[in-house]
Amino acid sequence: MNRGNFPQNLTQVEFGCLLQNMSKGWRGIACLARLEFMTINYETNICVYCGSRDGLTRDHVPPKLLFPKPRPSDLITVPCCIDCNQLFQIDDSYFRTVITLTYDTGKHPEAQKSWGSEFRALQREESKAYRKAVFGKAQPAKIVHPDQTESPTAAIPIDCLRICRFAQRTVLGLFFHVKGYRLADIYTPRIFMNPFSPRTLSFSKFLAKEFDGEPKTIGKGVFAYHVKWFEEESLWILWFYEALPLICLVGPKS
Ligand SMILES: [Zn+2]
Repeated sequence: MNRGNFPQNLTQVEFGCLLQNMSKGWRGIACLARLEFMTINYETNICVYCGSRDGLTRDHVPPKLLFPKPRPSDLITVPCCIDCNQLFQIDDSYFRTVITLTYDTGKHPEAQKSWGSEFRALQREESKAYRKAVFGKAQPAKIVHPDQTESPTAAIPIDCLRICRFAQRTVLGLFFHVKGYRLADIYTPRIFMNPFSPRTLSFSKFLAKEFDGEPKTIGKGVFAYHVKWFEEESLWILWFYEALPLICLVGPKS
């Protein structure tokens, strides 16, 4: 059902944008086009990522491969087109590889249960190119423990673009799940701070105290999210294995 009739469904932010654009001298027809573009779209049979209405399936947010079997019954799914769904598959696999290998997240009991599936996926013949892309540039490194002892390990460069895309897609899906409509195209989620920095972890714990209520948790600590709303703009903390926070801001694209 599309309840996207103007102007009563506009949020304050959207209305503010409209007034701003009108004051810049947009001609009437352009204003109306812009108004329609900004109006909330309450359709539920629509890809929450690209807005397509064709070839829809359901997408798990976050992807179900992060949850070891038996999987929880409260996994979140949102409508998604097959093209977007297929586009996300490598990003999803990459994210699981990274967080099951990362020291702080990989020691979580649920991450350790996923390690068998991850290992089997990496061993497959068709994963050869993927293995090379992920591990080809591994470098010797060391882990410094809290008692200052050290363990040898290997470090792989992180593909930031994939992590950012993963975060962006997760927030778009959660936005739809929480609000019941697709994020308007004038907004976009952006990742904020390097999730692999220890400073991001301490900052996220500090920031979480400013949020209302407890984070929503799915699957024994595998995933949790916390959101603070500022009209259509919002601030999200996505927690993976209780040790990796992705902080995302949803704001205007420009
Ligand atoms: Zn799509």
